[in-house]
Amino acid sequence: MATNDRKSDANMQPLTAEERRIIIDKGTEPPFTGELWDHFASGAYACRQCGAELYKSHQKFHSECGWPSFDDEITGAVRRESDADGRRTEILCAACGGHLGHVFEGERLTDKNVRHCVNSASLVFRQADNDATIQPKTDEAIFAGGCFWGVEHFLAELPGVISATSGYCGGQTEEPTYEQVCTGRTGHAEAVRVVFDPHTISYEKLARLFFEIHDPTQLNRQGLDVGDQYRSALFYRDDQQKRIAEKLIAELRANGYQVVTQLQPAPQFYPAEDYHQDYLAKHPSRPACHRRIRRFEK
Ligand SMILES: [Zn+2]
Repeated sequence: MATNDRKSDANMQPLTAEERRIIIDKGTEPPFTGELWDHFASGAYACRQCGAELYKSHQKFHSECGWPSFDDEITGAVRRESDADGRRTEILCAACGGHLGHVFEGERLTDKNVRHCVNSASLVFRQADNDATIQPKTDEAIFAGGCFWGVEHFLAELPGVISATSGYCGGQTEEPTYEQVCTGRTGHAEAVRVVFDPHTISYEKLARLFFEIHDPTQLNRQGLDVGDQYRSALFYRDDQQKRIAEKLIAELRANGYQVVTQLQPAPQFYPAEDYHQDYLAKHPSRPACHRRIRRFEK
């Protein structure tokens, strides 16, 4: 029961007994019975309980499982937790804690290889008025280029960047600590998640800067920081980001750089401990671990 998570908010909608059974008591509706399992229209799917938008219609796909299926979510809208059954991963509305369903990976149903299996009863559909309403207001990028203090410091100050967060991603350990990542045994890279306004700054501009503020030709190290937690990696969220990254790497190779940056679909990102955030801004006397070198101009 997720009582502690629930917002005491005027937006909270009254629920029917069946909706309560699913959203509050984490039940499951029978497959092929909900209103939205076979529903495809342009718009957004919002939390029935609190109204927060969770999924966009382009993220929905035909899965034949009998429940609404999505291969991605609106950034930050969906929370994951280990299910009480100890095997599955439960998904919840990040805003109100309402139960949505479960998320599965590795089924190879779409390129993203993820299926959010959501109860229709947990969702309400909102029709898009026009295409502009489904245009996301923010986008997200994840870069790993050695010590995250320096990468975050460069990216955070750009116009159009809403936030830059130091963290860990690309490894096996859940909720890793800095000490664990420093052993090099979790598989995680020190990384920075950037939330940005795509109308002000493009993903390409961010990615170009990323390739100039770290050395993408160093394998599993950046300068004195040695270990695969300092590897150069770009974690793309969609095919468009991947194509941009591939194009930039081709440009760098044409300029003579033997780029070793790994391209990977964005995995779960774990924000680092608070004391790592804005680290260089808080410690101005510390020498910067990153500097910009213009690599795209010949
Ligand atoms: Zn909600």
